[in-house]
Amino acid sequence: MSIFSKIAAGEIPSYKCAETEEFYAFLDINPLVKGHTLCIPRREVDYIFDMEDDEIARFQVFAKKVACAIKAVFPCIKVGEAVLGLEVPHAHIHLVPMQSEKDMLFSNPKKQFTPEEMTEAAEKIRDAFSRLA
Ligand code: 5GP
Repeated sequence: MSIFSKIAAGEIPSYKCAETEEFYAFLDINPLVKGHTLCIPRREVDYIFDMEDDEIARFQVFAKKVACAIKAVFPCIKVGEAVLGLEVPHAHIHLVPMQSEKDMLFSNPKKQFTPEEMTEAAEKIRDAFSRLA
C-alpha cells in the first residue's frame, strides 16, 4: 500500500480537504504556500497518464471542485495545477493558490505552518468544498 493510499484510508493522519468515494484531497505536508493541496485517486496508480480516460476525467473534475474551494477561501489570483510525481509513486495533482508565478516553483523553500494553522486551512477548504458539492 502506498503512503498516499494509507492517508486516504485514514491509517496515516492528514489534513483532509475533501473526499468522495473515488478521490481524496489533503494538505501537502511541505507546502509551497498556505493551502497547497494534493488530490489523489483512492485506487493505486503511479503514473497519472496511465489512468483510463474516464477515470482521469473524473479525477480532473474532482480537482476542479477542490480548486474552486481553495480559491473561495484563500486570497489568490488563480489556483495553479501541477503534476510531478517524482517523490511519491501514487498519482497526485498539486493545487497551489498563487499570488504570482513564483509560487509554483517547486524548487522554492517549503513553508512551515503550525498544526493549528494547517487544521484551520483544511477546515476552510472542506467547508467551501461541501458548499460546492
Ligand atoms: P511529487 O511526488 O509530486 O514530486 O511530490 C510529492 C509531494 O507529496 C511533496 O510535495 C511532498 O511534500 C508531499 N508529501 C510527501 N509525503 C507526504 C505525506 O506523508 N503527507 C503529506 N500530506 N504530503 C506528503
